Amino acid sequence: MKKCTFAQALQDLGYSDTGTITSRTFANYINANGGNVSKSAVNNHRKRICACDKSQPTVAKNATTETLTGKADVTSDGGEFIDVQTTKPVTDWTHIFERFNLDPNEFVIVDDTVRCSTWQQSKALEDGSRDIVNLYSYRARFARKTEAGINYADLAEQVRNWMPASVIKGDNPTTYVVSLADFQLGKGENGGTPGTVKRIKQSLANILEDIHGMQKRGSLPKNLLLANMGDHIENVYSSYANQAYTSDLNVRDQINLALELNLLWIKTLSPYFDEVIYSACLCNHGQMSRNGGKTNVSDDADNATGLIGDTLKTLCALHPELAKVRFEIPQDQMITTVTTSGVNIATAHGHKISGAEETWLAKQSQNLSAKRRFNVDLWLTAHKHHASIVDLGPYTRIQATTSDPGSKYYEDMSGQYSRSGVTVFIVGEYLPGFWDHYRVM
Ligand SMILES: [Zn+2]
Repeated sequence: MKKCTFAQALQDLGYSDTGTITSRTFANYINANGGNVSKSAVNNHRKRICACDKSQPTVAKNATTETLTGKADVTSDGGEFIDVQTTKPVTDWTHIFERFNLDPNEFVIVDDTVRCSTWQQSKALEDGSRDIVNLYSYRARFARKTEAGINYADLAEQVRNWMPASVIKGDNPTTYVVSLADFQLGKGENGGTPGTVKRIKQSLANILEDIHGMQKRGSLPKNLLLANMGDHIENVYSSYANQAYTSDLNVRDQINLALELNLLWIKTLSPYFDEVIYSACLCNHGQMSRNGGKTNVSDDADNATGLIGDTLKTLCALHPELAKVRFEIPQDQMITTVTTSGVNIATAHGHKISGAEETWLAKQSQNLSAKRRFNVDLWLTAHKHHASIVDLGPYTRIQATTSDPGSKYYEDMSGQYSRSGVTVFIVGEYLPGFWDHYRVM
């Protein structure tokens, strides 16, 4: 067997162990001497994980390995593996990236692009007899992680290549309202973002079940309102003291993840409905130019929720089935109004509520009536994270729940915590109080 490339380099450079040598020095030396190593291979060796005999075809013992073919097309923001042959099913792509001298830490496989075929082949053994081996061929696209893993080009392609589920649409003259609120993606505590994403996907599965139930009973609404209630991203500073240290994603990754998840909800739910509306509320965590303070140094329009809404609008226009989605994205208005199934809904994130909430709602209702000729039938708010419905007479206020990881700070201060989930309900002008079918899913 060939000597480990790294052990040789270490010896040549006069180091007795990997403790003081930098990864860069290590890699530069090996590459300058005719070797070709990835950053992760260097890191692995520093952790004393040596796979030189596996990753170097020159020492491979299996004749089949040497004849495996495949191609990697690499572009500036990712690339594609084309007909890459393996002798085992691929569950970890690390060695595939390494086979093409790509650093596996720099790329991520785009989940739904993996295609695999398998067949059997006769192989000559050393003693002259033959054996049957399984071979696999893979095709998959990958994205560069420095481009935040998911990027606009990928999302656009996901939309263009999307095959909508063929389902029977609802026909009740009502609207199913789904409140997507306070995900705070990037919030690191209590299981962090992975936990939040899991809960969001579970809520989507629960809601699909709810939709199927209504379909069976013949009560599925004709229309859908996906209400982005704000704070889908956590941001990294200015909300609380240790925010920059506890966030588990940078802002760019938070926004990209929010886009990916919102698009998932739009794609999954819109085939069931005739009319689809996506609305958005400006919020506190979404303020993009805070510069250390509590508010933007530019203007209220500089908000991640606005950016997410604008981007989704552009993306949805790329597919005929999604081009029907109507977007209500504010510029700098803190209250977004939506009229659906004859019901006037005022949505506000809730961070601008000051003093007694009922008074604020009453004054804002008066303002909307005077300035926008909009008479509120129902208020939808978020920001406080817990389930709450208040019947205020002319209108009901429904406060959306969230899928975020909870808040130790708040629990320590108040002893309170709230059930996790996505708040849904149905609105219609003929329903008593304009709403029904309230659920936290
Ligand atoms: Zn908030």
